[in-house]
Amino acid sequence: MRLKNQERVKDFLDKLYSSKRIPNAMLFYGPPGVGKTVCALEFSKGLLCLEEAPWGCGECPSCHHMEHITELILGGDWESISSFEEANGKKVFLYLSGEHPDFVFVPPDGTSLKIDQVRSVKEFAYRKPALSKRKVILMDDVHLMTKESANALLKVLEEPPEDTHFVLVSEGKEALLPTITSRTYQVEFSPLDRESFYELLGEESEDLYKASRGSLALARELKEKKDIVKILEDFLSSDPAKVYRAAQEMEKRDIEDKLLFLRLLEDRIRETFLRKELDYDRFEMMMRRFEEIRAGLRRGLRFSLSVFSLYSIWR
Ligand SMILES: [Zn+2]
Repeated sequence: MRLKNQERVKDFLDKLYSSKRIPNAMLFYGPPGVGKTVCALEFSKGLLCLEEAPWGCGECPSCHHMEHITELILGGDWESISSFEEANGKKVFLYLSGEHPDFVFVPPDGTSLKIDQVRSVKEFAYRKPALSKRKVILMDDVHLMTKESANALLKVLEEPPEDTHFVLVSEGKEALLPTITSRTYQVEFSPLDRESFYELLGEESEDLYKASRGSLALARELKEKKDIVKILEDFLSSDPAKVYRAAQEMEKRDIEDKLLFLRLLEDRIRETFLRKELDYDRFEMMMRRFEEIRAGLRRGLRFSLSVFSLYSIWR
């Protein structure tokens, strides 16, 4: 298992495997960058393994298919495994599926998990497994589910087919409908504590811990870019003059720095949303604005004005 620093979760899931009573709907939740999706993929591999080995035997055809799709998903190599459907002359993204007939991975389509995606997942849920004893539907970033999608999903979670397992991954559970969380078996992932974070990073930096929210992968990237972390803090202050200066400062940076700034800012806004300090409508509007800014960057849009417009939706 590739899961690091989540020993508690691993022990817990080991116990579930050995009890042979695995719930049909599970929710893995916790901050970003602490291994939730990786763990969900590995756990799914175990659920589908033909030898029924916890975490998979690594030898059977099911495990081989799962290892292959995991590599493609984590590598961001999605093109060859994306499934679409045609609706009103438009191509609609549904999910990722590889050679394993009993597994689908459902990431958000852009900024949200859409109703078409949930519909297709429901169809999949009621099919018979073709290779393994069961089927697994792994839905990623379910905190980005629209209300419409959540209600549609609820129907199948109420009475899931016996041989179908849902693994939902979310950055928090506060943003989900209580009717969804109450129907799932919850597994909490903790952020890295400061001590292990500093040790693994090789540096004691409170700023990096805060900016990366305990995600080591991001912190390593930010190590060389501490000035951007500082500009972000100014941007997040409630002093409009500081915010304006921060936006101006980012205007001068190259595209790579601008993208990094957007990613950090998006993380912080998502965190605010998960704490319920931002309503869904404004959150969605901001997420859409992020997409527009990213697309506009290559066309030379005025970065400072665009990020300032984000600030005005927010405050
Ligand atoms: Zn196997």
